Amino acid sequence: MTEKADLQSVLDRAAAGGRITPEEALDLYRDAPLHALGAAADAVRRRRYAGTEHIATYIIERNINYTNVCVTACKFCAFYAAPKDTAKGWTRDLDDILRRCAETVELGGTQIMFQGGHHPDYGVEYYEKHFAAIKEAFPQLVIHSLGASEVEHMARISGVSVEEAIQRIHTAGLDSFAGAGAELLPERPRKAIAPSRSPGSAGWRSWRRRTGWGSSRRPPC
Ligand code: SF4
Repeated sequence: MTEKADLQSVLDRAAAGGRITPEEALDLYRDAPLHALGAAADAVRRRRYAGTEHIATYIIERNINYTNVCVTACKFCAFYAAPKDTAKGWTRDLDDILRRCAETVELGGTQIMFQGGHHPDYGVEYYEKHFAAIKEAFPQLVIHSLGASEVEHMARISGVSVEEAIQRIHTAGLDSFAGAGAELLPERPRKAIAPSRSPGSAGWRSWRRRTGWGSSRRPPC
């Protein structure tokens, strides 16, 4: 373990572009003072993006959870409700979702993340209806949502191919995939904590090649 007094020298080395070991990275993660860590990260950013280092951008995005009902049962997830657990399960109706979109726009938001469980009844038609309604009411909002596991699930529910599902939800209003989460993990941890999320990291790479759709990366929904 890196001595506390040495953490600053590790940060200084990283900020100057030097390599740090996995053990040092873990020590920084666990024990580095937040402001010192942020200052080192900022120094790296400024060096890597010299010329535009004075520009840092962000967007205002709202995460709208449409249901917590999910058949996937990831082991780490405290959010989901099994379909039979009607006491815990809930679903937002379209009016509620549109109201949240309106609040986002009023606050200067430009993007929504439509995120929820793998509901056993929600096929492609559900997403088409909701994305189309959001785009009709708020054409200025970017819809950045879903991932491989959700798309495979909705295609299965609707009895269509993944390619058709993607084409239809894109036509309805989906602008980009968020990429969701646990399917990006290597097989061993994915099988341990989210065995039902498909298609797994290898499958996800082939899925992206097949469909031509990439994604950003996010924590599991
Ligand atoms: S992380 Fe997402 S897919 Fe997994 S159980 Fe929770 S809601 Fe379902």
